[in-house]
Amino acid sequence: MAAVNPIARARRVVVKVGSALLVDAETGRPDGSWLAALGSDLARLRSRGQDVVVVSSGAVALGRRRLGLGGRRLTLAEKQAAASAGQSELMRAWEATLDAHRLIAAQVLLTPDDTEVRRRFVNARATLQTLIVNGATPVVNENDAVATEELRYGDNDRLAARVAQMAGADLLVLLSDVDGLYTADPRKWPDALHLPRVERITPEIEAMAGGPNPEAGVGSGGMTTKIAAARIAAAAGCRTLIALGRALRPLEALESGARHTAFEASEAPAAAYKAWIAGTLVPRGVVVVDAGAARALAGGKSLLAAGVTDAQGHFGKGDAVLVRGPDGRDIARGLARLDASDIRRIRGRRSEEIEAVLGYWPGPVIHADDLAASEAGAA
Ligand code: GLU
Repeated sequence: MAAVNPIARARRVVVKVGSALLVDAETGRPDGSWLAALGSDLARLRSRGQDVVVVSSGAVALGRRRLGLGGRRLTLAEKQAAASAGQSELMRAWEATLDAHRLIAAQVLLTPDDTEVRRRFVNARATLQTLIVNGATPVVNENDAVATEELRYGDNDRLAARVAQMAGADLLVLLSDVDGLYTADPRKWPDALHLPRVERITPEIEAMAGGPNPEAGVGSGGMTTKIAAARIAAAAGCRTLIALGRALRPLEALESGARHTAFEASEAPAAAYKAWIAGTLVPRGVVVVDAGAARALAGGKSLLAAGVTDAQGHFGKGDAVLVRGPDGRDIARGLARLDASDIRRIRGRRSEEIEAVLGYWPGPVIHADDLAASEAGAA
């Protein structure tokens, strides 16, 4: 069977780079030649028209050296300080890496709230989308300088999966120190079998992962967090590859058939996102629209204030709402881009007037990407 290139067909790719790959163990500085080679890999994806988002660790490891903290266990405050000093060095390395290919690096620092609290999720999602549309390559990390122990991801595997979900990516590549998932830990069990493909993450698959790698000096993810990441990504319609990152140009290696494990997604990202809006979220209010807007929505358009006749309830920006037609039937669910009181202030108004009322231009009340037609409404 000819090997299928696992990257070629992806539209938007999130590449997660761990500290152990990026930080030279000898010098404690960014590994320039490894990064330069990865830069060529990323540039090739971009030249084929694929969108790229990088999730990069390394801040704490780089900051340790800069602040002279050595290899010892750090207190929370020291870890935060190291992350702060290291993050700027990390971005300097990414700037140089991407600049070499005329790509624009754009730093995005996230906390779990940005991905778990809906209002901030919608906000961070818009930032990522706008960066990508404007040709930048987002370089994302956790905002470790202010993240407390209870309120942090702690590992960038799950952060990367959340970023893939937010960015509507269809491929997540976790570059790692192992070439995928084995039936048991291959360091302990030499006859463990490699799994090239995982259709669905079952309890058996989770049991194969074991705990984090205790020998890893830097970075905090293990196979367990990678499986957790693959699960989040799969639910968001994104495929996950776990592959070796150590060699130069790891993505090219993957494209030429390097061993990896692929975790399949259940559906396309857009469909998964709409299913999440339609099924999982509890509506916090109702936006009533006129017949013209109802027709526009059925045709896949965004909801503009001009077609809104009322907003009911106390929902906030980013909350899920029901969209109700003039006949009282619910036609869709969506994420409101404005809170209820602002929608009431601009309902029925034309786009030109809205900026004067609100003092800024908010865009549509609900963007087409954030709208899911109701089953009943589709009838
Ligand atoms: N965000 C952390 C850093 O930049 C790394 C987390 C991880 O190792 O996954 O140092």
